[in-house]
Amino acid sequence: MPELPDLTIVAEAFDAALRGRPIRAADAPGPLAVRGTPAELDALIGQTVQAIRRHGKFLEIDLDRDRVVVNPMLTGRFQLAAPGTKFPSKTAVVLGFGEADTPRGFKPARWTRGASWLPARDSPAEVRYRDPTQMGKVYLLPAGVERSLPGLSPQEMGPEADDPALTLDVWRDRIRRHPGELKNLLRNQAFVAGIGNAYSDEVLHAARLLPFRKRSSLASEEVDALYDGMRATLATAIEVLRERVPPTFETQVRDFLAVHMKGGQPCPRCGTKITEVKAGGFVTSYCRGCQR
Ligand SMILES: [Zn+2]
Repeated sequence: MPELPDLTIVAEAFDAALRGRPIRAADAPGPLAVRGTPAELDALIGQTVQAIRRHGKFLEIDLDRDRVVVNPMLTGRFQLAAPGTKFPSKTAVVLGFGEADTPRGFKPARWTRGASWLPARDSPAEVRYRDPTQMGKVYLLPAGVERSLPGLSPQEMGPEADDPALTLDVWRDRIRRHPGELKNLLRNQAFVAGIGNAYSDEVLHAARLLPFRKRSSLASEEVDALYDGMRATLATAIEVLRERVPPTFETQVRDFLAVHMKGGQPCPRCGTKITEVKAGGFVTSYCRGCQR
């Protein structure tokens, strides 16, 4: 499932590649993924990309008038490609973009500047959204149309896990309201947005805390360690993914993680065999040697 680091890379790259480009084509080979009408999909054509950003585990494309929001769920992936190249299987939505007329003063993410994967400004570009399990959703949000978008309301989405405004003091205050198990806490989007099953395991390993520990059992230094572990884990992952995910952005790179899905392998910190349990349909991986 794409999480904060994965979608941050996609949002930054697509913003750099597509801001200022008009949509020239909008097709839905997998219409079941689309929440919106064929007329609303057609109406995207001619609108220009104002910004592409990530909210929690959603990707949002802001156009002149309308918005498109994608919730990729478990298996949704985005691909940046040249038009005319072969679609991957299970492509649900294809957006074609014309030449770039980049707005003055636009500063794309620094790591994207001059990147070899950026489409030339005077050539078209295409984004394909594919989803083998067809669980993800592409929401068309025309201006003036109210359409419910589960998971994106302020009640359902807390601060971004990497938001500078989420300081250690804010963290200490917010976490008091959540007494339950740490893994569930980190995955709770209303607490912090953007972390899912994989990165919750990584954050807990970085913080040296066991996934099934209760927040109510944490000493204050442990609450702080969880915060530091979260920030460090996400920042490191973003650095790695900037190198590894281009040029097409559809690959989910997870092999560099310390514990998640690495049951039976030695812990990179202490060498103990990593434990893996399946609970609630999710794999949880942790180290009994160095997590308490
Ligand atoms: Zn260990």
